[in-house]
Amino acid sequence: MKGITVLGSTGSIGVNTLDVITQHPEHYRAVALTAHRNVALLFEQCIAHRPDYAVMSDEAAAEALQQKITAAGVATEVLAGVEGLEKVARLPQCEQVMAAIVGAAGLLPTLAAARAGKRVLLANKEALVMSGHLFMDAVHEHGAELLPIDSEHNAIFQCMPERFSGLENGGVIQILLTGSGGPFRTVAPAALVDVTPDQACAHPNWVMGRKISVDSATMMNKGLELIEACWIFAAPPEKIQIVAHPQSIIHSMVEYIDGSVLAQMGSPDMRIPIAHAMAWPQRISSGVKRLNLFDVARLDFERPDTTRFPCLRLAREVAERGGTAAAILNAANEVAVEAFLAETLRFTDISRVIEATLEAVTAQDAASLEVVLQADGAARETAQQQIARLKAK
Ligand code: NAD
Ligand code: MG
Repeated sequence: MKGITVLGSTGSIGVNTLDVITQHPEHYRAVALTAHRNVALLFEQCIAHRPDYAVMSDEAAAEALQQKITAAGVATEVLAGVEGLEKVARLPQCEQVMAAIVGAAGLLPTLAAARAGKRVLLANKEALVMSGHLFMDAVHEHGAELLPIDSEHNAIFQCMPERFSGLENGGVIQILLTGSGGPFRTVAPAALVDVTPDQACAHPNWVMGRKISVDSATMMNKGLELIEACWIFAAPPEKIQIVAHPQSIIHSMVEYIDGSVLAQMGSPDMRIPIAHAMAWPQRISSGVKRLNLFDVARLDFERPDTTRFPCLRLAREVAERGGTAAAILNAANEVAVEAFLAETLRFTDISRVIEATLEAVTAQDAASLEVVLQADGAARETAQQQIARLKAK
């Protein structure tokens, strides 16, 4: 029986993780569940899974959950705040930590899991983008296992040589990182100015949280994934080619020196990478409908359009620059996406805010967590100023 802590259990990835756990009650158990403010759903999940701990990062929400748990006579212990999140990431009864909090808020608990030597099932790409070097060092130093949940990285992982020790040793010449191109791949660039949050969140192939859905629409998601892949696979950015693939059936590919190109395919359903990472190196069922290639019929590939999607260019520049540049990009993006979702920033201004923030905040060597968090804070402040300036116009 393997114990799993699910950070962000009320989100899209969290719910899918609990779905896979439920299918294998004899092998997996949720030992801790966490959420930000969604008391009703976390309570429901506590009733269904009876975890040892439930954490609400919001203090008032934790009190509300405690009342419901007490009234229901459930033995789950309720904790609050980031200390609670870090504690459940380190529990001795937990072997695996699903890192599925969205954004920079997931960094500290995910890092705590790595430092405790857990198997980290990494969905929270922002944590790795912000702190790449420090995070990978923590994984190696503490004997943690990093298994990617992001479907592309999970696909790349599956296509890499079994005992991976660097691209060159494995005869890998290139990683082909695929992406659907999001809902606006073929929309006229001029029409993007008036895009609404609901239009941006209507992804053609995947159902996801709102932040990552907007990232997919700007293609910043692919940019963050480029940086994520550089860290997970120790790859320089020039060895990673982004390929637009509108059907989302191939989830990414690895090209070898002998001319072989290995691809991982499957229905666009996150339970596949989740089940893969939980069971690796074994395989378990995920509950996903089998892929029918006759229904798929064709697979298309296109060069990504960096003029239509400036976030792709910004992310590549940042990947090449290194240091705290990625933390600055990530923070500016989080602030800009939040403003867009609140309808105080235009869709096409998201990349402008990020670019201006990258120009205004000087990147440094990401020498410590403090330096990274400082860069994150400075970038958030600058991005807010940029948004206010655009509003005043
Ligand atoms: P979501 O918005 O559906 O869920 C986010 C979860 O994080 C919720 O449980 C929420 O309560 C929690 N949370 C939010 N803010 C928090 C805070 N300040 N402190 C603590 N907890 C907080 O998001 P999602 O779509 O499930 O995505 C989660 C992560 O997985 C993201 O980093 C995303 O990029 C990544 N990811 C998601 C998908 C997908 O298909 N949804 C695919 C690949 C990667
Ligand atoms: Mg992805």
